Amino acid sequence: MERKVQVFDGHNDTLLKLEIAARRGKSVNFKDRLEEIDIDLVKAREGGFAGGFFAMFTPSRVQGFQHKYDHNDTKNFMPVNYNQALDFTLAMFARLRRLERDMQNELAICANANEVRKAISEQRIAVVPHIEGAECIDLDFNSLEVLHGAGLRSLGLVWSRPNAFGDGAPMVYQPEISAGKGLTVAGKKLVSKCDHLGIMIDLSHLTEAGFWDVAKTTSRPLIATHSNVHALSPSARNLTDRQLQAIAESQGVVGLNFHVGFLNEVCDETADASLDQMIKHLDYLINILGENGVALGSDFDGCILPSQIGDVSGLPKLISAMRSCGFGEELINNICQHNWLDVMDRSLMGHN
Ligand code: ZN
Repeated sequence: MERKVQVFDGHNDTLLKLEIAARRGKSVNFKDRLEEIDIDLVKAREGGFAGGFFAMFTPSRVQGFQHKYDHNDTKNFMPVNYNQALDFTLAMFARLRRLERDMQNELAICANANEVRKAISEQRIAVVPHIEGAECIDLDFNSLEVLHGAGLRSLGLVWSRPNAFGDGAPMVYQPEISAGKGLTVAGKKLVSKCDHLGIMIDLSHLTEAGFWDVAKTTSRPLIATHSNVHALSPSARNLTDRQLQAIAESQGVVGLNFHVGFLNEVCDETADASLDQMIKHLDYLINILGENGVALGSDFDGCILPSQIGDVSGLPKLISAMRSCGFGEELINNICQHNWLDVMDRSLMGHN
């Protein structure tokens, strides 16, 4: 049998789901098929999921946390303080490091693209640690140094809420983008510090003003790990043509987010999205970013997935849809894996 296309994906929240489940007293073993978790080892193998950026995200309320956010409930978007965020991030990072120790033949934490390529060739899930929302970073950047030492290689400055570094885009229908607030002085310093250490900056969740502040501050490729096309789905979380053009000029990458509310035309998370709509976003992105600028950024375990995908075992359905729409094998492999690895090489050049 032909080997499944091996997917290296731009974004998931599986570590958060595992952490929340454990805190609720459920016994969860990543090796088992797990109900209510999109990515586990069994389903990953079924779907050809070979690895990805694994996010560590601190929710605004850990108690009563739900993945389906009520956008009208401001408690879900309240600022999180440093101590709470550091505590929760360390719990997820420690969980990841224990997972690696317990599953040495099945999972590897990777610090660069070559380590990812090696892990994939050994059929180990390649995990690149990512932090979504920099609340756990202090203004002297001591925690950043230590987290980098532990393997952090990608950082989203904000989630969809304000913090010391900037402000986030709301997850709402917003045909007329409002630029919002840009980065703070500390936010710009954080970008430079990440450039210096070799930590990729993720633009997904930033306001448009924050996006342009990063673009002005960094000389590295612009990356949005899990965002879609605003012209097709006018959510404030999606990217305008001007932003996509800036990403293209920087030789950056955008990962396709599978969240129904960022795919369908009305940004309605109670409505479904089809494989056709996913392909439409990919086509649009390819037109602006080229065949080396587009990848996947599923948001497994952090979003409401199209019913045709279901969970990570549904990845081959998206790949079949790409084939039916005339995407060649080389393009499919670029979108599914190589574009992320190549942009990691470009971004982390000069670092270990
Ligand atoms: Zn996100």
